[in-house]
Amino acid sequence: MIRQAKGKTPRRLPPKKASNSQKDPVGVYCRVRPLGAEDEECCIEVISNTTIQLHAPDGLKANRNGEFKETQYSFKKVFGIKTTQGELFEDVAKPLVEDIIHCKNGLLFTYGVTGSGKTHTMTGSPGQGGLLPRSLDMIFNSIGPYQAKRYVFKPDDKNGMEVQNQVDALLDRQKRDSQTTVPKTPTTRRIDPEFADMISPEEACKADGVDEDSSYSVFVSYIEIYNNYIYDLLEETPIDPIKPKPPQSKILREDQNHNMYVAGCTEVEVKSTEEAFEVFWRGQKKRRIANTQLNRESSRSHSVFIIKLAQAPLDADGDNVLQDKNQVNVSQLCLVDLAGSERTSRTRAEGSRLREAGNINQSLMTLRTCIEVLRENQMCGTNKMVPYRDSKVTHLFKNYFDGEGKVRMVVCVNPKADDYEETLLVMRFAEMTQEVEVARPVDRPICGFAAGRRQRNQAFKEELTRRLEERGGPLDGESPTVLNQLLQSFPPLPPCEISGPNDDVTLPRLIEALEKRHKIRQMMIEEYNKTANMLKSVLQEQDSNLLSKENFIQEQRGKLGEKDKMLQNQKNEIDRLEKKSKMLEYKIDILQKTTNIYEEDKRSLQHELESREQRLQREMSEKRRMEARMQGIVTDSKLKWEKECERRVNAKQLEMQNKLWVKDEKLKQLKAIVTEGKTENRQPQRPSREKDKVPAKRSASPSPVPSPYHASQSSLSSLEPIYNFSQTVRPDPHFLRPGSVSVASCISEWEQGVPQSRRQGSQSPPDRRKRAQGLPDSLSRRRGRCWAREVPVQPAEVDLEETGHWTGPPVRPLHRRSHSAGGERWVDHKPNTNVDLDTVLQPNLPNAIKVNAPSEKALSKCDKYVLTHQEVASDGEIQTKLIKGEVFKTRGGGQAVQFTDIETLKQENPVAASRKRRSSETGPDGEPKEGDWTDVETRCSVAVEMRAGSNLGPGYQHHGYPKRRKP
Ligand code: ADP
Ligand code: MG
Repeated sequence: MIRQAKGKTPRRLPPKKASNSQKDPVGVYCRVRPLGAEDEECCIEVISNTTIQLHAPDGLKANRNGEFKETQYSFKKVFGIKTTQGELFEDVAKPLVEDIIHCKNGLLFTYGVTGSGKTHTMTGSPGQGGLLPRSLDMIFNSIGPYQAKRYVFKPDDKNGMEVQNQVDALLDRQKRDSQTTVPKTPTTRRIDPEFADMISPEEACKADGVDEDSSYSVFVSYIEIYNNYIYDLLEETPIDPIKPKPPQSKILREDQNHNMYVAGCTEVEVKSTEEAFEVFWRGQKKRRIANTQLNRESSRSHSVFIIKLAQAPLDADGDNVLQDKNQVNVSQLCLVDLAGSERTSRTRAEGSRLREAGNINQSLMTLRTCIEVLRENQMCGTNKMVPYRDSKVTHLFKNYFDGEGKVRMVVCVNPKADDYEETLLVMRFAEMTQEVEVARPVDRPICGFAAGRRQRNQAFKEELTRRLEERGGPLDGESPTVLNQLLQSFPPLPPCEISGPNDDVTLPRLIEALEKRHKIRQMMIEEYNKTANMLKSVLQEQDSNLLSKENFIQEQRGKLGEKDKMLQNQKNEIDRLEKKSKMLEYKIDILQKTTNIYEEDKRSLQHELESREQRLQREMSEKRRMEARMQGIVTDSKLKWEKECERRVNAKQLEMQNKLWVKDEKLKQLKAIVTEGKTENRQPQRPSREKDKVPAKRSASPSPVPSPYHASQSSLSSLEPIYNFSQTVRPDPHFLRPGSVSVASCISEWEQGVPQSRRQGSQSPPDRRKRAQGLPDSLSRRRGRCWAREVPVQPAEVDLEETGHWTGPPVRPLHRRSHSAGGERWVDHKPNTNVDLDTVLQPNLPNAIKVNAPSEKALSKCDKYVLTHQEVASDGEIQTKLIKGEVFKTRGGGQAVQFTDIETLKQENPVAASRKRRSSETGPDGEPKEGDWTDVETRCSVAVEMRAGSNLGPGYQHHGYPKRRKP
């Protein structure tokens, strides 16, 4: 709103800047014009009444690697090709016209590339009037009856509006009428066919709520901005067709309210649509001529048609415009047809025209920049300087964006494919513009007068006219009816004709009557004045009442306004939230879709998993079945084999038993033969006891050469009641155990219990025997040690070795012989339990210390130890063992005995022995079983260590057996 200078009544002066914080976004509309030719390629599609879709034309698609690009743009409203000018006006311009009538400013501009229909939209053509003629028409339809007389409102030169007094206005009117160029009555004049029929009468519309108690005047100005110069298209300069004078450019100024205006610009007061349009057409013609003369391109210029509406309240009696400049309100509607937005390259401009084109482009560029900065400031809360001053167009409209007003833009697009790229830029600009907000104009303040003044005045005037007509005209300016009544109420005048010069009656009587009348009149005047004063005071009272009521109403309105604001705020908030919720809904939708996809995936995967699990299950059960089957087969075959083995073993056992029995039988027979023969041969030579002692005596000097006797004796040793001893004995506790030891258990014990190292540790006789026999190691060992029955002992060998050490403790090849060593001292340990056997072979230990219990003291004095141990052998005979060992000094200061040899002395009852042997002891090959036992026993060795103060080890067990008397 362009307001007047500050006046005396500041209450009524509205604030300079909008006090309200309410803002509305720039309303951007899109109009799509029809294609020029039917077969033209189209790149725009209207997909809803708010959205259009751009798709790249074929040529461009190829350029962009076949990328198919579609973009959508939304507007406040989209008008398709079938939209009529009237429909467009309804939506776009009508609210602006209503605003201007209600003292609010508006700006409407068309934007687009050349040929997109900007001018068509703004101006239109006969029969298809654009927004401009329709706006004018609506204004005049609305304010028509309330227009002030011409020149009542008079623009000053500073963008203000004055109210002229009646006389000045009349004078100006007379002056205008006297000018011949201007026809007296425009309405009766013939209308230019060029702009006739722009608007059909049935399309006429008018604004609601026009304040009837105001007087209105419309002023129009028309300027062109070309190459950043402003030209006044309504300036009355005679155009010289021969020598055209270049038009003078205008400058922009800022008024005291900081509104921009074109200084010295012609403002033509118009009283009707036709007159206004005639003025516009005049400007158009001038523009066309100038363009032709100056070789300018009209599409390169911006045209601005400004409609100013001045309004002021009528005075109290509703007769004339109030003579108060502060009460004048001026609102304006700017209709701008911008230059084509295309880039310079599209204009085919050359030389100086290129420069112009560049400039024009520059002003549109500035417009874009301003919009951008505005948007940024508003959105980000920044305070960047908006470069309005960079171009005339933006500078002129600075107040709309800075201050308040309604801004609307119609984006015109030509759907043809050639314009695609330009249109794309237009769309981007349009989108951006929509985000800029402009302060909403505030309502016009109410003047202090009672409403309905114009109507009352009108009614009064009408009534007066009627009565005058009834009476036949007023008298001396007095109201005729009132005068008549008054005259009739006076007393009649006496006859006033004088009869003669001496008539003294008539005149005094007349004087008297007149004086009477005078008195009455005086009284009436007084009465009248009294009544008038009373009435005046009543009226004043009423007036003040009214004023206070109006104030109250104003107050209430203010409150209402606040409430409205609040409501609006809430509405905005609701809008925002709705938008947000829509956005969220959209997001939810997307997420839902995504979820669905994932669920679908999940389902299919689960399905797959299930099927796999089933397959696995099947395979597992198959496997189990197979296993069971295999188990069955294995069990079956095992059973079968076990049975088979058992059967074979049984058969073998049977066979072996048979063989054994046969051999037994043979052996028995052989024994019988041998026993008979021996008894016959030996009895005279050697009675059993005496003979036994002989070799004992001889043993002191053993014969180094084996005799045949020895050999034969040895071969039958098991059958003889002689000392059967072994050499190199390291008794193994396992093998020292007498009693019912089976051969099989011996073998297994041997194999499990005797460590390999010990088995190979010393060169034992079996080793030698094995070497002599060339037997495999394991076999010979087993045979030699455990199962002598299987191995026939080589008589010669046994003889060689065993007879060589006949008398003393047997030779330990690794040690010196105990008896031959002179300085040795023995501990002779004989437990008390021992039975004294009168054996021939007794150990001869000179200067030995005899003990019957292990004594450390004795051990400390000796270096050899021998334990005489008796036990009952398996055959029930007493067997004496001489367990020998060496005494060592241990590191701890005690003594240790390491057993080195065992000599076994066995006394046999020849009868019992022969009986026994005959029954069970002899093997099938005739070898004695106890000999084998001894053999096995003596071939084992053990080392027992006795430490000082320690208990005897588990290997050192002393078994005492009750003496068994020999028969
Ligand atoms: P601009 O001013 O944007 O350069 P114009 O308004 O001069 O474009 O339009 C160019 C041509 O297209 C004109 O002949 C006009 O009649 C036509 N035209 C534009 N818009 C429309 C429309 N909506 N319907 C019919 N014809 C149109
Ligand atoms: Mg145009």
